[in-house]
Amino acid sequence: MIRVLVWNEFKHEKEKEAVAAIYPNGIHRTIADFLQCEDISVKTATLDDENCGITKEVLDETDVIIWWGHAAHKHVPDEVAALVRDAVHSGMGAIFLHSAHHSKPFKLLMGTPCNLCWRESGDSEYVWVTDPSHPITEGIDRAIYLPHEETYGEPFSIPNPDKVLFVGSYAGGEAFRSGCLFQRGNGQIFYFQPGHETFPTFHIPEVQTVIRNAVRFVAPRYRAEIACPHVRHFGDPEGYVIIKK
Ligand code: ZN
Repeated sequence: MIRVLVWNEFKHEKEKEAVAAIYPNGIHRTIADFLQCEDISVKTATLDDENCGITKEVLDETDVIIWWGHAAHKHVPDEVAALVRDAVHSGMGAIFLHSAHHSKPFKLLMGTPCNLCWRESGDSEYVWVTDPSHPITEGIDRAIYLPHEETYGEPFSIPNPDKVLFVGSYAGGEAFRSGCLFQRGNGQIFYFQPGHETFPTFHIPEVQTVIRNAVRFVAPRYRAEIACPHVRHFGDPEGYVIIKK
């Protein structure tokens, strides 16, 4: 069973009718509902929960965190972002959606500004598959068509991804690295661009398929805090002994 925590700042849904009409219980509930299945169990947390609903104990029991944020990145305490970073380093998987490119944990993990060009003009988008053999693109034809999405364009100031799995192209002409994989420490990170709050993007079956595939892909196969132990040489008769931490 993969234990997922969907984190959402949960502001727009409470403040804007148009967003509440699309996600009446919040983006986090929509994501939780389509993910919940035989091998995936889902909890949610939001900005207004105590400590943002995130503690070391919560993350120790989380295999994959999914993050959506936009207007309130700065209200996430630095300590919470550091907890997420450290959990990823030890092996927790992380999926950052859409405007989470500017979230504190994503920027901590990337180490770059993570800026991009953007425009809210209701452009349509094709999200093109660049690697049809990858587990995250399984079940997706050549592209996902989104009738309307916020336009994101290059340059996207991230480190070079380990793999680019999707490239978005917009009616306005922009292109964007829409699906990017990174490894940090023992943890896998997937950034996925679709998901502007005023469009029903998370109700689109192919978008749900990609997020479900990504949960299964970034879920940890190995999880341990990254240490720097002083050890005896390999083959020492006393075995693998940590002399001091
Ligand atoms: Zn947006």
